[in-house]
Amino acid sequence: MTDCLFCAMVAGDIPADVVHETERTFAFRDIAPQAPTHVLVIPKDHHATAGLLVGADPTLLAEVVAAAHAVAVQEGLATEDGPEPGYRLVANTGPAAGQTVHHVHLHVLGGRDLAWPPG
Ligand code: 5GP
Ligand code: ZN
Repeated sequence: MTDCLFCAMVAGDIPADVVHETERTFAFRDIAPQAPTHVLVIPKDHHATAGLLVGADPTLLAEVVAAAHAVAVQEGLATEDGPEPGYRLVANTGPAAGQTVHHVHLHVLGGRDLAWPPG
């Protein structure tokens, strides 16, 4: 999609600190990290929100979640079969949640204790 920051990163037009990639997913460090590990995981195809993605291509949503878990394991936030020490997946959706980039992305946050509830 034109005029989409994350599509431009997938295309290589804007640099990204890529930490994980599959045929259909792409993961890179957030430019303004909110935790020691803060990675964004996206589908390479443009979908605005998780709700729109799951309707259009549910398998791709599953691939994004699998990629997020792989990133967490790679970053030492979990093991293949266990949740220790732990991490958080966040999908800000819409204006009330503060979504600023309208290409669906999972934030993978970890490396510190994460307060609940979030703001
Ligand atoms: P949202 O607020 O939509 O849930 O998350 C968008 C995220 O994209 C924010 O955490 C923001 O820091 C990150 N971001 C915005 N512009 C860039 C950029 O140019 N590069 C990278 N790596 N992250 C960005
Ligand atoms: Zn896009």
